[in-house]
Formats: sequence, C-alpha cells, structure tokens
Amino acid sequence: MSGGAVAQTYDYIVIGAGSAGCAVARRLSDDPSVRVLLLEAGGHAKGFWARSPVGMAKLFKDKRFNWMYSTEPVPTLRHRSLYWPRGKALGGSSAINGLVYVRGNRKDFDHWESLGNPGWGWESVLPVFRRIEKYGGAAGSRHGYGSDGPLTISDPAVKHPTAIDFIEAARRNQIPTVTAFTGMEPESAGFLQATIRNGARQSSYDAFIAPVRNRPNLVVESGVHVRRIVMQNRQAVGVEVLRGNQARSITASREVIVSAGALNSPQVLMLSGIGDGDALRQHGIETQFHLPGVGQNLQDHFVARVQASVTPESSYNRSLHGWRKYAEGIKYLMTGGGYLALAASMAAALVKSSPDADYTDLEISFRPMTFTYHASGKVEIDRHDAMSASVYNTRPASRGEVRLRSADPLAPPAFQPNFLSDQRDIRAMLSGLRKLRAIWATEPLASRMIAELTPGPGMVTDDQLIDYMRREGQNAYHPAGSCKMGNDPMAVVDARLRVHGIGRLRVADASIMPTVTSGNTNAPSIMIGDKAADLILADAKAA
Ligand SMILES: Cc1cc2nc3c(=O)[nH]c(=O)nc-3n(C[C@H](O)[C@H](O)[C@H](O)COP(=O)(O)OP(=O)(O)OC[C@H]3O[C@@H](n4cnc5c(N)ncnc54)[C@H](O)[C@@H]3O)c2cc1C
Repeated sequence: MSGGAVAQTYDYIVIGAGSAGCAVARRLSDDPSVRVLLLEAGGHAKGFWARSPVGMAKLFKDKRFNWMYSTEPVPTLRHRSLYWPRGKALGGSSAINGLVYVRGNRKDFDHWESLGNPGWGWESVLPVFRRIEKYGGAAGSRHGYGSDGPLTISDPAVKHPTAIDFIEAARRNQIPTVTAFTGMEPESAGFLQATIRNGARQSSYDAFIAPVRNRPNLVVESGVHVRRIVMQNRQAVGVEVLRGNQARSITASREVIVSAGALNSPQVLMLSGIGDGDALRQHGIETQFHLPGVGQNLQDHFVARVQASVTPESSYNRSLHGWRKYAEGIKYLMTGGGYLALAASMAAALVKSSPDADYTDLEISFRPMTFTYHASGKVEIDRHDAMSASVYNTRPASRGEVRLRSADPLAPPAFQPNFLSDQRDIRAMLSGLRKLRAIWATEPLASRMIAELTPGPGMVTDDQLIDYMRREGQNAYHPAGSCKMGNDPMAVVDARLRVHGIGRLRVADASIMPTVTSGNTNAPSIMIGDKAADLILADAKAA
C-alpha cells in the first residue's frame, strides 16, 4: 500500500497497475482534488533480477510476478497449448517484458480512426507519445521521441558488430536504415530503443507511479484481486475485491477504469455481467448488459524463431558463461552497462510481406545471441556461438477469443488465439522467413554465419516451413483487441473508451485496440492509458 490512508470511497478506481493502468492513475492524480485508487492483484517485483534487463529470463516463469497462463489447444498449431506469460505485479506486463520500445506505425492509428474512432489518428496520438517519452539520444526531428516525459527510452548499451552487420545487410536488401522506429518509416532497419534507465528496467510503475507514490490523493493497493465491478442501474458504482479470502467493496463516486490487460479486462467485464448473455448464463452470471464483443477479436503477433551458428566473435553467448559471466556481472554493477543491460532484441527490420502491402506487416527482430526455453521453465543462454531472429506477423488477419472458464474470479480465463487460421497470415510468415534468410545470406552478415540451426537448411519448401511454424511457432506476448473500440455491434467501448451500454465505466489498455499495432505493444498500451486520462478529465470538466 502506498499514498494516503485506505478509504472506502474514491473518485476513480483503476483496476490493474500495468502498462496502461499506471499511466491512467498517474495523470488522473495530477489533479490534487481528485482521489484515485489503483488496484493490483500482484505485488512489487524487487531485487536484482527484477531490476536488471537480463532478469527477463528469470521472470519468464516466476509465479510470484507472472500469471503464467496457457492457451486452449490451438487446432492450427497441432493442438499445442502455448504458454502465455502475463505480468502480475506493479507495472503489469511491463515489469516482466523484453523492454523493446516501438510506438507502432502511423497507419495503425490512422486505421483506428478510419474505423470510426475520432481522436485516435496519428496526429492525435503523436503528442501523447511525445509527452510520455524521455529520450536523450540521436533520434530527433518532428516525429522523433519526446524528451521530458516520465518514461526513459534509451539506445542499446552495447551495439554489437553482428547487429551492425545485420542492419547493413538489410540495407543491401533495400531496407533503409533508421536511428529509431518512431512510427513514420515505410520500411526500415535499425537498432531498437528500450525502456531502460541507467541500466535498469523501467516498468510503467517505475516511470509513472513510483515518483509520485506519496501523493495524498493517490492510493496504490497491491495484492488485491478485483472479482467484479459493482453496478446500479447500469452504472458502475464501485468494485468488489478479494485479499486472500477477505472480500470487501470500495465505492467509486465518478468512474471505474478497467486496465487489467487483454486477457483479464474481458474476464472482469464478463464476471460483472457484461458480455454475451448466453455465455454468461452458462456460468450462472446475471446479464447486466448484453455486449457480445467482450472477449472477441483477440489478436497477437505470431512468431517463428530462427537460429544460426556463427563465427566465435559474432555472438555474445560466451560472454554470459564461465568466468566472462562474472566479468559481465561486475561491469553491470559498476557501470550499468554491458550485456546484462540489454533488451530482448538489439535490432530489427520492419518490412512489408509483399509489394502490395499498404505498409509494414512483418517485424524481424534480431539478437547476436541465442537462448533455450527448457521444459522446467528455465531460460538459458546457449553455450555455442549463435545468433537468432524472430519473425513476427504484425498485422494478423486471424482472430481469437477470450472466454470465461468458470464464474470463479480466481480461475484463469480460457483463450484461443487461432494463429495461422487465415491463409494471409501464412503467406506473410513465409515471406518473412525468406526475407530473413535473404538478409542473413547478404554480406557483411553472410561471412559471419556458419549454418542455419532452426528451422534448418533442409526446410525450404512452403510445406516444410508451414510445418515448422505449426510445430514450433509461438506467440509474441502482445495480446490485444479483446474489448475493441468502435461503434459496430461487436465493439465494447466507444472512442472515449466508455463501455457501451454501461455508465461510468471505461476500459483502457491493450484490449481496446481495434487492430493490434504493427510493432511491440508496450508503448501503445501506455499511450492508451495516458490518453484515457485526457478523455476522463475532459468529460468530467464538461459535466
Ligand atoms: C514476457 C513478455 C515480453 C514482452 N516483451 C515486450 C517488449 O519487449 N516490448 C513491448 O513493447 N511489449 C512487450 N510485451 C508486451 C507488453 O508488455 C504488453 O503489451 C503491455 O504491457 C500490455 O499492457 P496492459 O496495460 O494492456 O496490460 P498489463 O501490463 O498486463 O497490465 C494488466 C495488469 O492488471 C492486473 N490484473 C489483472 N487482473 C486483475 C484483477 N482481477 N484484479 C487486479 N488486478 C488485475 C495484472 O496483474 C497486471 O498488472 C511483452 C509481454 C510479455 C508478457
């Protein structure tokens, strides 16, 4: 608990202290006359591994800070159930994520606006991005990063020569080089920026809440699970929470904002009687408002990982083993730099899967290292010299769904991503794998490479590569879209993020994206939270 004393009534209650929720609560509490309660099911992730970027590997299956969900068996992926980590901590998924910072393409947001969401086009969201960002590096210009916001964005602590060669090889494949992916690039390759400050991870909680946690008008309560939103006459008037077995109610005199993430926000709404009426009845939940879109339209970026063995100096795997590991540890502790201070990927190429694509629909993220996910949950840096890349399908056509598994608020939601269920996604992924191989076969990268390890040089035909993707493909941990914004019958919130049919209730997180952005989703989730506060405050003023 932090901030003022616990009360029973607040003006605003924010459910979930994740990427978006922390930004909402921070900006609402900028007005000292407004009382804000931020509720989080998880605790505070502290200690060396929670602070150091390399600690992502340790947090990947740490049940103290991770919901550790799994999908339903996916028919299109040989009925595999995929592991889906989600942050359960102050900072939410930004407390355990890979730290890569990508806003998305300007056309992602213009598309949202064209779907009937005024105020969400690029020209409207760009100032919001810029006011949350604090960047001191080389990427200036009108569309460059902001320099005074709460969230620090930095360039990689080490720019490895192999990553430099990846960017150069991409350039020789007609992919222009950029210093930052700030949203304007048609196709581009370059080093990735990350939410790392002085060598330490920066979650949304670290950036937005920690510096203001002593505000008397902001109370942050962790370790409390919201089991439902309390409603009267189709208006949200508060929440019911569980701390262990103890239940209690808290009143919101103005609004409740659901920021529980793309899997849990629809779950909280459904548990509160907002969702498809027939599905709610099956779980004995009384329908408050029939809203069939709740939990539908789930999207994520499907990923195929590719690895290759390389010449010894072309990988930093060995720097994280044996005596070198300790040398790196000392370097990190003394300077905040070195290989322990790096985000999950070092460089990327954002490209189009075909010349007909309107804009980029593939992200090829690159690292001059490799790691193995062991069945035990351990993520280990490999000992052999190798590099890897992930090919992401960033504008998927496949759609999944989130459903209730049961009426028990503590039961995980059931969800099905339906990856590769649309032929367009398969075509895009095949194109991405071939583009990656073309880059790897181009100098100066080509002479560093010894052999492709996965999928392997024998996998060349469409059928072989499709089989590889169905056997080995994964999700990017970027779920979105399950409470989509819009005004069609399947929309859940309007363009001011108000839940259709229910008063004083909004959703603000990755779930409101009508289509997932074409890059990593932490930055746009934070932007959504910050912009939500604008909308809430403007509506309060108007009222
Ligand atoms: C392993 C991993 C790696 C990733 N890597 C990157 C990356 O490198 N770059 C990038 O841009 N994105 C990355 N992402 C994705 C990015 O972090 C998410 O898209 C983003 O954090 C989503 O923000 P959100 O606010 O929608 O949800 P979240 O940040 O997940 O926040 C939801 C919060 O609500 C809480 N909550 C849920 N239910 C309840 C309840 N009933 N009661 C109380 N609290 C509740 C949760 O505990 C959580 O804290 C990664 C994600 C993961 C999991």
